Amino acid sequence: MNELVSASQGEAPARFAQFRGGLRAALRSALDVVLPPLCPSCRAPLGGGTGLCASCWSKLSLIEPPYCARLGIPFTYDPGHGLLSMEAIASPPAYDRARSAVRYDDIARKLVLSFKYGDRLDLAPMMGQWMARAGRELLAEADALLPVPLHWRRLWGRRFNQSATLAGAISDISGVPVLHDALKRVRTTPQQVGLSKTERADNVQGAFRVPAEQKA
Ligand SMILES: [Zn+2]
Repeated sequence: MNELVSASQGEAPARFAQFRGGLRAALRSALDVVLPPLCPSCRAPLGGGTGLCASCWSKLSLIEPPYCARLGIPFTYDPGHGLLSMEAIASPPAYDRARSAVRYDDIARKLVLSFKYGDRLDLAPMMGQWMARAGRELLAEADALLPVPLHWRRLWGRRFNQSATLAGAISDISGVPVLHDALKRVRTTPQQVGLSKTERADNVQGAFRVPAEQKA
């Protein structure tokens, strides 16, 4: 978690956030001895298991081929390998390829909220496994993973950078290294939740920079 300092403009707040995150994780472990962990989606007790309960797991919608070669949007039929969706043709993105692990339905939404805001760091290995599976072709050619840094004020509030935690889980599986210092968040931004595509792009415009020492 030291790498989280890279998202900070001052090291002290990040260290405090790290300490608070560690403390809460320790308390959670202690509580788990008394109270069994709950399913992050429906809150059913999981017994000795982790992750989702069997019922929620059966409803989870993992994204599988066929999908748009560029955006990763699933197709309802297989148009053949390498074909692009109408969205990708009409409005080509700045990136070459994107992949998503699951459809953002009610179960996925609750899972993400538990992970981001509910201190459910224990979900990271499971979610990282799904992401590594969905992105296996990209990871096979990737040189590095770059988690999106948080501004230190948000890191303080949330206590950990969920992007860096997931990148670590994906790195454990794929062997692709994580570059925690390659990007810095130079200004805080309003939440992206609820914004349109254009508004989201405008919102993070100029929010990141590559530190001089990281430039090749
Ligand atoms: Zn459940």
